Amino acid sequence: MTLSANDPALKSWIPVPPNCDFPIQNLPYGVFRRRRGDAAIGVAIGEMVFDLSVAHRAGLFAGTAIAGENVFARDALNDFMAKGRSVWAEVRNRISALLREDHGELRDNGELRAQALLPQAEAEMMLPARIGNYTDFYSSKEHATNVGAMFRDPENALLPNWVHIPVGYHGRASSIIVSGVDIHRPKGQTKPDDAAAPVFGPSRLLDFELEVGFFTGPGNDLGTCISTAQAAEHIFGMVLVNDWSARDIQKWEYVPLGPFLGKSFATSISPWVVTLDALEPFRTSGPSQDPPVLPYLQFDGEWAYDLNLEVLLATETMPEPVRLTRTNFRHMYWNILQQLAHQTINGTNVQPGDLYASGTVSGAAEDSRGSMLELSWKGTKPIKLPNGQERKFLQDGDSVIMRGYCQGEGYRVGFGEVRARILQAID
Ligand code: CA
Repeated sequence: MTLSANDPALKSWIPVPPNCDFPIQNLPYGVFRRRRGDAAIGVAIGEMVFDLSVAHRAGLFAGTAIAGENVFARDALNDFMAKGRSVWAEVRNRISALLREDHGELRDNGELRAQALLPQAEAEMMLPARIGNYTDFYSSKEHATNVGAMFRDPENALLPNWVHIPVGYHGRASSIIVSGVDIHRPKGQTKPDDAAAPVFGPSRLLDFELEVGFFTGPGNDLGTCISTAQAAEHIFGMVLVNDWSARDIQKWEYVPLGPFLGKSFATSISPWVVTLDALEPFRTSGPSQDPPVLPYLQFDGEWAYDLNLEVLLATETMPEPVRLTRTNFRHMYWNILQQLAHQTINGTNVQPGDLYASGTVSGAAEDSRGSMLELSWKGTKPIKLPNGQERKFLQDGDSVIMRGYCQGEGYRVGFGEVRARILQAID
């Protein structure tokens, strides 16, 4: 596999502003719709979208493995995700070549350029894939420790299985939404601590969870497993995930079978899928795992990612977002290879376009926690906003914005953002 598309020295003939998330070294894939147009697949470059369906129709992928099939004239990335790593790398190198400053094939063809490029501001972003399965892990030791300390016992915050199993559960795929889609406050059963019986109504403890998710490429047959050594061949790329949580609904319902309606009302994701190939330069070592993990969870190499993450909040009276937390994905205890190996060790089948979220990303410092639950410590330490307001949990009209990027030398490989506003509960 050649990764010439990752060369830090590359420059595009398309302008890329400083600190832009989408330089030529990134080339994340997304699904978008033009005004009065069909959906298509494109890559983000600078402040533009490069429409790959137009490029394919114009013959720009002649000679590649996808020459015979316009996999970009689709409303989802699943078909392309199914092609596998060698095809992804070949296509990414070709896209990179077309956009390089010294390459005139597209640059000097004004008519084709006008058809194939459009400002991101004119592209309506859609979900990147038809998501058949959604799993949410719980892979931050700091997050699991904080939650365990709050709800169980600070002395034994981690349950005994946590250091042996990448704990996870099956979430709801149909309520995954793309950035920009607002959500209604969920309603449900809750049981206040001082009440004898449960009550029904809008959640009062609505929260975000800062997560990073990966999309799978080629799947496996039912009854087979994907090993840690094979896992990277099955992972297409990553997005930011806001795994919304209604803490009061969750607290009352989760025993004994785990998260259900407190989680399944919505999960927001960022629209651009940053490929594992683009993230390759930012792999780094994760935390050491002690006690040693079982053989099927052992892995070779460094599989944490040096990915800076932040969460911002805007309110109705504070439209300019302020940062609530800042952390880094590299601290996650369980990595993506272990998560996929664990998911399939029982022989379950993974499909192209499945989404696997990391679990809330929390760092060790108080200002690096990935949820309101932890930032306000269960509501006991309200967060003070610059305009004098306070927040323990989210209120109607609040917007939550998550951003992330990997910093290279002179460029950054960014994720854009995932954003959503909370609307009042439906009557
Ligand atoms: Ca979660």
